[in-house]
Amino acid sequence: MAEKEKHKSLDETEREIAEVELQTKHDQAEIARVDLQTKKLGLAEAKARNANFQQAEDSRHKGNRQRQAEIAQTRSNVQARQKQCRHKAGGQAGGDELRGGGKFAHSVLTRAIMPDGHTELLQCSHCDLMLYGRELTPAEIAKLAALDAADEASGIPFRRVADHEEWTRLRQVAIEDGIPNNVLRGPTFIFQDANGVNFIPERV
Ligand SMILES: [Zn+2]
Repeated sequence: MAEKEKHKSLDETEREIAEVELQTKHDQAEIARVDLQTKKLGLAEAKARNANFQQAEDSRHKGNRQRQAEIAQTRSNVQARQKQCRHKAGGQAGGDELRGGGKFAHSVLTRAIMPDGHTELLQCSHCDLMLYGRELTPAEIAKLAALDAADEASGIPFRRVADHEEWTRLRQVAIEDGIPNNVLRGPTFIFQDANGVNFIPERV
């Protein structure tokens, strides 16, 4: 009897062990399930974050492209206006004064000497042209030509000599066709020195 009890007790113990083992397996499976769920949630969050980031990036790039296109358009509009502008006024009968260019038309280009005492700024009040330049010696022009040639050799369109010639031509127009002793009607731009202090360039 006692032996039977003992066996029964052993069976009972084995059954309990089996139950505990089964429960442990259940628990482990549950932990694995929750763990997997947590990882899936994390993955979904990461995906959403990436999508938002990508969306923000795309939107930023699109904004940049639009802004660059606008800047390029504005620049090309200004260049077209300056190319068409004759920098002249008056001289024609009728309401065509802004175009100018008639027999008695005068240049509206103004000249201002910059604080270095050499650089001259030519400005047109009609097309907002601003051209800096200064008189150059033949040696200096030869130097510019050499720099242009070096640029040309590396495929960059050369412009220094051409720009200087255009500045010289317009300066001559301002001197010859400008109103004699024309007076400054007010600065058209704000100039600042290295310390950020505004100044009005001295007029020629
Ligand atoms: Zn002009």
